[in-house]
Amino acid sequence: METSAVFSNAATTIGGGFHRDTTNVGLLSRSPYLKTRFSFLPPNSKLQNHLRFNLPIANTTNYGTNNAQAVRVDSPLSVPSDTVDIDWDTIGFGLVNTDYMYTSKCALGGSFSKGELVPFGNIEINPSAGVLNYGQGLFEGLKAYRTEDGNILLFRPEENATRMTMGAERMCMPAPSIDQFVQAVKATVLANERWIPPPGKGSLYIRPLLIGSGSVLGLAPAPEYTFLIYVSPVGNYFKEGLSPINLIIETEMHRATPGGTGGVKTIGNYAAVLKAQGAAKARGYSDVLYLDSVHKNYLEEVSSCNIFVVKGNTISTPDIKGTILPGITRKSIIDVARDQGFQVEERAVTVDELLDADEVFCTGTAVVVSPVGSITYLGKRVTYGSDGVGLVSQKLYSTLTSLQMGLTDDKMGWTVKLK
Ligand SMILES: *Cc1c(COP(=O)(O)O)cnc(C)c1O
Repeated sequence: METSAVFSNAATTIGGGFHRDTTNVGLLSRSPYLKTRFSFLPPNSKLQNHLRFNLPIANTTNYGTNNAQAVRVDSPLSVPSDTVDIDWDTIGFGLVNTDYMYTSKCALGGSFSKGELVPFGNIEINPSAGVLNYGQGLFEGLKAYRTEDGNILLFRPEENATRMTMGAERMCMPAPSIDQFVQAVKATVLANERWIPPPGKGSLYIRPLLIGSGSVLGLAPAPEYTFLIYVSPVGNYFKEGLSPINLIIETEMHRATPGGTGGVKTIGNYAAVLKAQGAAKARGYSDVLYLDSVHKNYLEEVSSCNIFVVKGNTISTPDIKGTILPGITRKSIIDVARDQGFQVEERAVTVDELLDADEVFCTGTAVVVSPVGSITYLGKRVTYGSDGVGLVSQKLYSTLTSLQMGLTDDKMGWTVKLK
């Protein structure tokens, strides 16, 4: 399928989103000016139907006229063919550029525009943008899986949308509605469908961003915001079965403080953990486990994962009180574990309990469940299980991944089908 179409690389935001009238497609793709950048889609493609019916659609007028709002067309671009040249067996966790990204803008105090899919690429931003100067930004992360029967599944996307809303409130940013977030994620995944790995080979990692894109010099919320979604295919984190990670407890640096921003996925939290993480990696550890900054005695979390401690039939994890990130995998594992008969406790968990545990594991979208093989604390190393992966970690990992990949019945109602 090779249809030539045209795009502008201009960063100009235009009023139009996607147009309804498929009869205009030919006209638009020949026209030197586009009102919409989405007119290259084959008229009856699944994607176009999806967008036409599931995304809010802006009114479009004045096709082909040289009005001030039209986008100048200057670079030809072809509609992607159905397959991509990727060796799905060796794909890792690095960024792979895909075809499209979604963007939508909003003025402070206003609401987000309908949004549009544009070719994936660099964005233009003023050097005085709020996000660059004062770190006004949030990110999210979720995955889409391709199933054996040809469907595409998202896992609890409305949870990511809700978390972005909560983060936006903390960071003085407007947030897209839950519905806009979910619809935009769906549209972005479908526009990049050919980049979703085959069943069992990995997933399409989805990265929504919310950034203060407007210019601001004195410290204040930016006057304009951009909601953007890009995607990248990723391999399964554990290719040859689960392999345990080795953590070191950080006793000097902290990732969060009470009253701070540790509980939201704001970008500044991640630059702040690079130093401790880098030092740990240089010494051969996989990552750092943080303690609470007040008592230095209670567990918080790893740089980008939540932590669970297993003792007998009880699974404990630090409770959510502002200094740890409320992981969606964490929340899901709690429900799955309870469903399997474990007693799950969300409460303050001490270092002593951790060192005395039968099994320890971490959770997050990327790893799903990551067993911990050892913890090092003040020079002392404690190991879990004898080499092998703990049974509880193994069981919870396979239950949750099977559900996410559509291999088992989703009695929780957590997966969202895109087709
Ligand atoms: C994203 C994140 C997690 C995991 O959240 P999920 O929703 O399970 O992916 C845990 N801790 C931190 C600090 C995070 O940023």
